Amino acid sequence: MKKNLKRIGSNNSFIPLSDSCNGEGDDEPPSGGEDSEPPQPPSVANRLKLFGTIPDKDWNDWKWQFRNRITSVEQLSKYVSLSATRYAEISAVTGVYPLSITPYYLSIMDLNDPHDPVAMQAIPSIEEITFKTTGVEDPLGEEKDSVVPGLVHRYPDRVLMVLTDICPMLCRHCTRKREWKNGDWIRTPNDIERMLNYIRLNKNIRDVILSGGDCLTLSTKHLADVIRELRQINHVEIIRIGTRFPVVLPQRIDSEFCDMLSEYGPIWLNTHFNTVNEITPDSAAAIDRVIRAGVPVNNQSVLMRGINDTVEKQTRLCQGLLKIKVRPYYLFQCDEVQGTDHLRTTIDTGIKIIEGMRGFTSGLAIPNFTVDLPQGSGKITLQPNYIVARNEKEILFSNYLGRMINCNNTLTEQTAAPETQPADPFYNFSEVMDADRIIV
Ligand code: SF4
Repeated sequence: MKKNLKRIGSNNSFIPLSDSCNGEGDDEPPSGGEDSEPPQPPSVANRLKLFGTIPDKDWNDWKWQFRNRITSVEQLSKYVSLSATRYAEISAVTGVYPLSITPYYLSIMDLNDPHDPVAMQAIPSIEEITFKTTGVEDPLGEEKDSVVPGLVHRYPDRVLMVLTDICPMLCRHCTRKREWKNGDWIRTPNDIERMLNYIRLNKNIRDVILSGGDCLTLSTKHLADVIRELRQINHVEIIRIGTRFPVVLPQRIDSEFCDMLSEYGPIWLNTHFNTVNEITPDSAAAIDRVIRAGVPVNNQSVLMRGINDTVEKQTRLCQGLLKIKVRPYYLFQCDEVQGTDHLRTTIDTGIKIIEGMRGFTSGLAIPNFTVDLPQGSGKITLQPNYIVARNEKEILFSNYLGRMINCNNTLTEQTAAPETQPADPFYNFSEVMDADRIIV
């Protein structure tokens, strides 16, 4: 069903009108205005220009989108104007780190903007192979925490099932870039059975995360087979699906998939929007379908230089997410992965962004700024430091406006009870309840 749409701020995104909320923090993003809007967002203009001959039936079929991914510089040059130097650079990068872009994701880029935050996530940069790298192949030590092939067990009560290394769009900042050189693979039934057996035998596992690559690359039937087995295990309370499909190929979120989700809940879905420009009518509608299947949706974004590394860009992203009912959950410091140094910024930048958001927009819009510590040492969340000074009894805080506020930090001692209770009916609880009086 089609919905009325309205623009979010000055970017090229739209949200369903029926999803906008009226409460605190529903302010428009901090800058821009509707007057500066182009007549059509890239998703419409580019589709007409680049894929105008593709009928809706194909365009809206996720398998068509998947089959027609752009995977070489030759294909890319048919859609994007590339200088000879740029062509040679992309060719050199793809010899090390391959390229894959869905037609849909290409259609939401502003191809006239050399710094378009969508294009920067998808089109290879020569800096992937020329930056002096501080990164390693496997910064999170996932290989060492794999208890059986594909199953990462790092925290006590949860495991990560890596079901495939295939993704419809290869993100230039990907933590698992190391997998790209291994070719495309999907876990065999034997591998999956070994993972399930491990989970069956470990009763402390209550939370299973299905991931990849992108596990929605698998057919819904294949996914359902895994999820059905997990649902037979009593101690598995929740299942989480980590997927970027709603952002890069939203057509994948079809009725077959949503019906399956509603059959096997509680299932949570974590997705990965990095810029408000990725919130389009198609991605908003995909999220809406997932939520209607009873699945809460969280967002895990990655902090990236030039893409989303300012207070304004993060505020616009997170407010846009709330409007499509996605909770901004994590903002990750970009992991120290080889081939991603050019996109990484400092940890201090992330803390400053949170400081610039806190108090100026709803707390719901503020993600947990998180560093996944190297060598699988675990996640830590970081906050600005609001404590200016302290002694044994008090703490001096600076609030979001920089005002100094002193707070007591001692336990209040109980005062002696009065010898006789005052004749106040509120002290006689049963009488109060009998009288049907409200005391709280
Ligand atoms: S969707 Fe995730 S796993 Fe796939 S390329 Fe992007 S960041 Fe990597």
